[in-house]
Amino acid sequence: MVISPQEWQRFHILKPGDFNYPDQMSPDVVRNLDLFAYQMGARPTILSDYRPEDLKQHGAGRAIDTTWPGEDPFRIWRAALHSQLFSGVGVYLNEHGVASFHFDTRLDRTGKYPAKWGAFVESGENTYVSAGLVLDQIKKKSWVLIPALALFVYYLVRHTKG
Ligand SMILES: [Zn+2]
Repeated sequence: MVISPQEWQRFHILKPGDFNYPDQMSPDVVRNLDLFAYQMGARPTILSDYRPEDLKQHGAGRAIDTTWPGEDPFRIWRAALHSQLFSGVGVYLNEHGVASFHFDTRLDRTGKYPAKWGAFVESGENTYVSAGLVLDQIKKKSWVLIPALALFVYYLVRHTKG
């Protein structure tokens, strides 16, 4: 089933141009991600959608990988589960500290009881762990960043004074 031009026009946030394969997408996952983005008041960047070689949700056009520039990853995670719009939710953290989220509408789970997981991404390789472990790591990184930033500014000021 293809999303009609009329339905694309009714979406709040998402456009066909956001996708690599807009015509291969299952309407429900696009519909739900659009509603979710609208509820969040945020625009996701779509990293990956339909993947012809994938045997699972991406290959079925039922999965979308996203980043949310400037948004708190915890807020995205909590809201995604609370919304019950997705039957699969994954959180990923890469070696540069960037969090991304996979959302899908797999048919063997429900929005109320979704599949949940986390993964650390290094050189494109995923190490699958619990979502909690990845979220803990994101939290640690943000606490490390504040003193690191303060120290950086301190040195900058000292050195520019001569
Ligand atoms: Zn994915």
